[in-house]
Amino acid sequence: MNVLVLTAHGDDMEFFAGGTIAKLCLLGHQVHLVLATDNTKGTFELTRDEMFAVRLSEPEAAGRVLGLASVECLDYADGELADVPLNVLRGQFMERIRHLQPEIVFTFDPWAPYENHQDHRSVAWAAMEAASFSHFPLYHPDQVAAGLAPWLVPQTYFFAKNPRDTNRVVDISGEPIERKIRALWEHTNQMALTVAEAQAQIASAPFDVPTITSLDPRDYREFIANRVRTGAAAVGKKYGLEYAEHFRRTRWGGTERLAEGGVPEDEW
Ligand SMILES: [Zn+2]
Repeated sequence: MNVLVLTAHGDDMEFFAGGTIAKLCLLGHQVHLVLATDNTKGTFELTRDEMFAVRLSEPEAAGRVLGLASVECLDYADGELADVPLNVLRGQFMERIRHLQPEIVFTFDPWAPYENHQDHRSVAWAAMEAASFSHFPLYHPDQVAAGLAPWLVPQTYFFAKNPRDTNRVVDISGEPIERKIRALWEHTNQMALTVAEAQAQIASAPFDVPTITSLDPRDYREFIANRVRTGAAAVGKKYGLEYAEHFRRTRWGGTERLAEGGVPEDEW
């Protein structure tokens, strides 16, 4: 099946759903990634132009680790996605949905609380609407007139910094979490930034965390691996799994409530 991931920045998918995406790729599914922004604010040390030059190379390297079918960037300015009208971004996402005809769309949850990044909020609203209405031919009818058929997205998986109402757990123990970690390692600048930002935050606080503050930010591998394992273990513990990711999932427009005898369990 085709799967489409709609996110804001190069490493969003890997942090929130990298194990699940690795699992889908290992099962032979075609996973396509669309990044809305050019990632050009994710640094303390490089220039905007230097960041722009690697906006695709790092996600593509991570994509090779995971086994993605394609990686695409819409090249909007990082941190400024709120300047893009909702319906413009929705139209671009809907065009990708109608073109790729995915069985599952992954994106940010617009209803999850405390999301401080405008790019995540903008992607969430535009992607949710795109996945909800791409089967309506009079939404963005220019696409239909150009030959793209309307497409009903059967399932949408939402992720968030602070997930709410999760109803789908994916076991990522074994190879999937290993690929998630290795994929994150490919985001060289973003991972160094993650360490450097934690160091700056600790430096502003009345305490020290020597295991972090003593690190060279470019020596991030163990820090990132520990962070991923700790997070996935905490989710897994709730469900009796070693490592897991969880999502709020909607499927079939809620018609599963009407299914006599229930619906089959997911095979993955
Ligand atoms: Zn992000």
